[in-house]
Amino acid sequence: MAAAEFDLIERIRRRVPARADVVLGIGDDAALLRVPAGRELVVAMDTLNAGVHFPDGTAPADIGWKALAVNLSDLAAMAAEPAWCTLSLSLPQADPAWLDAFLDGYLALAAQHGVALVGGDTTRGPLSICVTAHGMVEPGRALRRDRAREGDTVWVSGTLGDAAGALAQWRAGGAIDAALRARLDRPTPRLALRAALRHAHAGIDVSDGLLADLGHVCAASGVGAEVMLSALPTSAALAAAFAPDAQHALQASGGDDYELCFTAPPEARDALRQAAAEAGVAISEIGRVIAGEGVRALHDDGREWVAAQGGYDHFRG
Ligand code: ADP
Ligand code: MG
Repeated sequence: MAAAEFDLIERIRRRVPARADVVLGIGDDAALLRVPAGRELVVAMDTLNAGVHFPDGTAPADIGWKALAVNLSDLAAMAAEPAWCTLSLSLPQADPAWLDAFLDGYLALAAQHGVALVGGDTTRGPLSICVTAHGMVEPGRALRRDRAREGDTVWVSGTLGDAAGALAQWRAGGAIDAALRARLDRPTPRLALRAALRHAHAGIDVSDGLLADLGHVCAASGVGAEVMLSALPTSAALAAAFAPDAQHALQASGGDDYELCFTAPPEARDALRQAAAEAGVAISEIGRVIAGEGVRALHDDGREWVAAQGGYDHFRG
């Protein structure tokens, strides 16, 4: 779509504000960026495919928001400060109205965090959006997966299970609760927690489900973890829409919330709570890091929670 492709790129370029460290943005063969001296560059990439990562019929503005949000969430999980992004669009047709609406969502989130769109690619094909996000950290300050230690406390931001709750309602074919749907369509990258994460040892964003993602941290760190089901933060909307068993499954195994899960030494508890409060983000202590391997979710009486047969696959994206 050569001529149309140029029109679309021009539509994008016109709407992108300047940023001082972008020497050359959209329009040349590649972007030219000024990386501050003495900082490490953090790069993340995530793709969203229609029907796989968002339900068919999702509003283009929500797709735009989410495509950037999932990438900024990866930067948040590294405790990085976002700076730039690129956008690869595969579109079934050159539809300016669709693109404008997509950009409404995408650029609204970019503006919220001062992220500049500096380049990309535009092609014809099945609807698919691939974004890279670039950010910075002070050397040695990135929050990695492989630094959790036995005795650490385990924390999660926000509430869990909401996005998976919306997906479950969507798959069941009934009405989708508006609050849950908003969490699925417009996840909040927890960049506000960057300062608080100075107190953390290791972390990850919850895209595939709490137990799976905390499992990645444990595997990388050579430790195990226990989380208390009753400590998992629950939204009013989720509690109203699902019975306790279904709720637990959504919270433990459901993905797409893009909350942060991190571990921290127990003595950092107060500092962590205070920094999160200053950031205006709720955090909950949900468990602890133990010797061994694997992640177990426990009922209050100590029994291990086991996913219902087929439950795990059902809630996977
Ligand atoms: P080239 O053929 O040199 O790769 P393109 O025609 O693909 O050039 O892109 C021209 C310019 O437009 C480049 O700066 C590229 O980064 C930018 N661009 C293309 N598609 C997008 C997009 N979807 N979002 C942002 N910038 C884009
Ligand atoms: Mg190109």
